[in-house]
Amino acid sequence: MPLIVQKFGGTSVGSIERIKNVARRVKRSVEKGNKVVVVSSAMSGETDRLLSLTREITNNPDPREQDQVVSTGEQVAIGLLSIALKSMGVDAISFTGWQVPIYTDSVYTKARIKRIDTHRIRKELEEGKVVIVAGFQGIDDYGNITTLGRGGSDTTAVALAAALDADVCEIYTDVSGVYTADPRIVENAKKIPVISYEEMMEMASLGAKVMQIRSVEFAAKYGVKIHVKSSFLEEDGTWIVEESEDMEDIVVRGISHDLKESRITVVRVPDKPGIAAKLFKALGDNNIVVDMIVQNVSHKGFTDISFTVNKTDADMAEEIARKVAADIGAEDVERNDRIAKISVVGLGMKTHAGTAAKMFETLYKEGINIYAISTSEIKISCLIDEKYAELAVRALHEAFIENMEGEIQYE
Ligand code: ADP
Ligand code: ASP
Ligand code: MG
Repeated sequence: MPLIVQKFGGTSVGSIERIKNVARRVKRSVEKGNKVVVVSSAMSGETDRLLSLTREITNNPDPREQDQVVSTGEQVAIGLLSIALKSMGVDAISFTGWQVPIYTDSVYTKARIKRIDTHRIRKELEEGKVVIVAGFQGIDDYGNITTLGRGGSDTTAVALAAALDADVCEIYTDVSGVYTADPRIVENAKKIPVISYEEMMEMASLGAKVMQIRSVEFAAKYGVKIHVKSSFLEEDGTWIVEESEDMEDIVVRGISHDLKESRITVVRVPDKPGIAAKLFKALGDNNIVVDMIVQNVSHKGFTDISFTVNKTDADMAEEIARKVAADIGAEDVERNDRIAKISVVGLGMKTHAGTAAKMFETLYKEGINIYAISTSEIKISCLIDEKYAELAVRALHEAFIENMEGEIQYE
């Protein structure tokens, strides 16, 4: 009997009507002869609502207690979904992350899954039940509830698919698959029928929130086949799979944008060995992930170091940068929250030259200034002013995707 993991995002379970709709869909999969494990997010808006309750008390809530609060959204959704399935005559049982249990490390608000005990789930599946698991949450070795970072239900689903050796992990969401750019910004964005893990990982880490980055890392590591599709429409979505030879024929598979970063600049730093190490070690010690780093050319023994971090970490990063700046004799620390990172992603960049030049030229033609650049084998990212983000995405989509359509086969 095939085993499918089906994950439903917040919009898909956003109302009682929609929860019933999800239950009908799950029921159809069961009737087709599949064993089904369902992973659900909280109802749309609920995680934000819970977070804002903590913020009504303080801007800096205790992370353990924040996880206690925000993890409750998923518990409501799985219970409701289970009730809906049972009322349709489908036997089902729901579990929170700690009931499974899904074990994580203890890094509250962005914990990583370490292992999953699948005994209980397997037993319930054997008894013919649909097993519904709360996304986004787990438990550490000391019995504390943890959450996996925003969008973390995707990771719960893929990790369960890997642990249970499922045939496929279906991600049901409010768009029909992964598109060449965010379809809410680029009207002409096209659905991508098949994308490699590597490309999806880059797109996700560069702002395409349709899949949480860690879920794609997991899928690549354990070879989980993912099908991203609409929970409202009956149509094929996007398959995320192992790279195949012909994938390099397409230079740019997609354009991503990310408004979630802040830039911090340490001004007039003495240009001598060990300074960067000191700054970035202090950030790393506090679990702050640094993305782009730019160090200017030195002037009379002084230089500026800029870096970007997630906005949620920006307060702490600024505080740390100020401490280190005082320590090393730097002049000042500046912060800019109104920046955007725009990226083009594609396996074909490995074998086709000229992508960077074309990207810079496209931005230049729109009068958009570039603050920082970073590249990997399959992506180029530029940091620009937030106010030009949508313009930049549309212009790059036109240059790299729409104007190339003669050469690319889309559905
Ligand atoms: P869910 O609640 O189902 O997890 P999310 O809101 O996390 O859904 O992710 C789906 C959203 O991702 C879409 O509504 C879309 O706006 C956004 N998105 C960003 N980039 C892309 C892309 N390249 N392809 C598809 N969706 C994208
Ligand atoms: N409910 C969580 C969030 O809003 C997890 C998820 O939706 O994947 O981030
Ligand atoms: Mg999501």
